[in-house]
Order: sequence, then C-alpha cells, then structure tokens
Amino acid sequence: MLKPAYEEAHAGFEEGGVPVGAAMFDSRGRVLSRGRNRRVQDNDPSAHGETDAFRKAGRQTTYRDKILVTTLAPCWYCSGLIRQFRIGTVVVGESENFAGHLDWLREAGIQVVELNDPECTELMRRFIQQSPNIWNEDIGESE
Ligand SMILES: [Zn+2]
Repeated sequence: MLKPAYEEAHAGFEEGGVPVGAAMFDSRGRVLSRGRNRRVQDNDPSAHGETDAFRKAGRQTTYRDKILVTTLAPCWYCSGLIRQFRIGTVVVGESENFAGHLDWLREAGIQVVELNDPECTELMRRFIQQSPNIWNEDIGESE
C-alpha cells in the first residue's frame, strides 16, 4: 500500500518539492486517489501530500472505512483533517524525520500503522539536508 504514496513522494522530490506522498484507499484496498505535497510546485502552502490525496478522492459518504497512506507522519494540519473527517486508518511510512502527532490520532480512535520504511526515511532525510529552509516552512517552523 505504500508504493503509490512513495512514488508520489519521489516525483515530488524530482520536481524540487517537499517529498511527501499520500494515497487514499477504500475498504477493499483499491486506490481512490493519490497526491503529493505541492507547496513549491504550485506555490500553495495548503497542498500537503495528505490534503492533496484527500481532495482528489472527491466527496465520500464516510471516511471511517478509508485508509490514508502517507510517506511521513502527518503534521498538525493534516492530523486535524484526519480527525475532522474521522478517517479510520492511517498508515505512516516513517516518523523518524518528523514524529507528527500519532498519539493524538490514536486518542481519537484512529488506527495508526507505522511502517518505519527505510526508503521513505532516506528520501526525506536527503531533502531535509538539501533544503532545510523549505522543510521548516512546510511544518510551520520558519522563524
Ligand atoms: Zn501536513
């Protein structure tokens, strides 16, 4: 399930963007949508990987049976979206480069699966080393 999200993250990296990718799946494991962080590409600070995939999935009657896969632990903004819409399951590629707020999601009854994937970790590590300013801007830590 991590593959489409990772492909999105990698494409974002190649574009010079923040390499966070995401994909939304239905309860049968079919991909509903995929997306990636487009802050740099579209000059859009609201386009995180998770929000991009969420928007591309269009309107859904319920999110409790949906699975959101993301290459990196979600930030506050994306965690808020996950709780707001009660997305049932979140699969996290890695939380080493950014720990996110996984306990806050679990407290809300969201199932969180951590993969600790070395490819996701390495891609994000390369990006943070290469573009620390863009990364800090993305997580709201500039200045
Ligand atoms: Zn986010």
